[in-house]
Amino acid sequence: HEGGLVVSFGEMLIDFVPTVSGVSLAEAPGFLKAPGGAPANVAIAVARLGGNAAFVGKVGDDEFGRMLAGILTENGVTDGGVLFDTGARTALAFVTLRSDGEREFMFYRNPSADMLLREDELNLELIRKAKVFHYGSISLIVEPCRTAHLKAMKEAKAAGALLSYDPNLRLPLWPSAEKAREQIMSIWDQADVIKVSDNELEFLTESDKIDDATAMSLWHPNLKLLLVTLGDHGCRYYTKNFKGSVEAFKVETIDTTGAGDSFVGALLNKVVDDHSIIEDEPRLREVLKFANACGAITTTKKGAIPALPQVADALELIKN
Ligand code: ADP
Repeated sequence: HEGGLVVSFGEMLIDFVPTVSGVSLAEAPGFLKAPGGAPANVAIAVARLGGNAAFVGKVGDDEFGRMLAGILTENGVTDGGVLFDTGARTALAFVTLRSDGEREFMFYRNPSADMLLREDELNLELIRKAKVFHYGSISLIVEPCRTAHLKAMKEAKAAGALLSYDPNLRLPLWPSAEKAREQIMSIWDQADVIKVSDNELEFLTESDKIDDATAMSLWHPNLKLLLVTLGDHGCRYYTKNFKGSVEAFKVETIDTTGAGDSFVGALLNKVVDDHSIIEDEPRLREVLKFANACGAITTTKKGAIPALPQVADALELIKN
């Protein structure tokens, strides 16, 4: 890989997805194993697009952890960031597919290996090579991984990386909504680029409308780019000097899992080699169009990782 390195920090886990929707966990006739964890999806999204990506996080030294590490390698993610914990198991999530299309999660994390990541075991050499450092993880919630998370952010920033944050709100993981808001906002002003979904915008601002004023209420002086993703309505962007929206592509959506991660991966894959894109509206709009195409393609197949596109797939959709 020639390009600058994107380091994505956080958790990698396995989602057990029921083979049918609209039934409770206990009634599910069977489950499919779907590797995921938003930060891992982002690393793979970047690599699938031909970029240089690493994932930093910890899994258990067990069958699932080895499987996940293998998936990163198979997908061209740079080695060296994955740690194995011999004392704790890989995080697992059990999904319920509700009949309204929404997903509910039940997590095995008591504690899982990712939560036990310590700052003294971080691969700082790798982290300092990042041109973009992306995070968006549930590792903010508890110690010791919170301290490790903050340390990794600080090291990457000091080495000149652009910091990219996606809060990836998964409410059942936090003890309360207030705690979730507080922890997400506690690292808000350190990011250069923040991507939130429309739902996260509503949650963080405690408002039920999504407009420019609501989005701008989340602005902070150090921020360079705020993105709000709107599913099949595309995305909105805000910078110090300009704002606007880029519409979505029309596709046959089957499963939206991973669309946001695909969008972020596509954006970072472009921005990593030239941070100034985010200050140049025409170039930024081109990149967001590409990111929207990648997000859209990801909704046309089941699962997150299997549905992440290659460059040719995105260009094909943009051309038509
Ligand atoms: P998240 O997965 O974080 O909730 P979104 O669902 O908003 O994020 O998806 C991220 C991006 O993927 C959107 O901005 C859009 O470009 C694309 N996308 C998502 N859902 C669809 C869809 N149904 N049709 C077309 N594009 C979509």
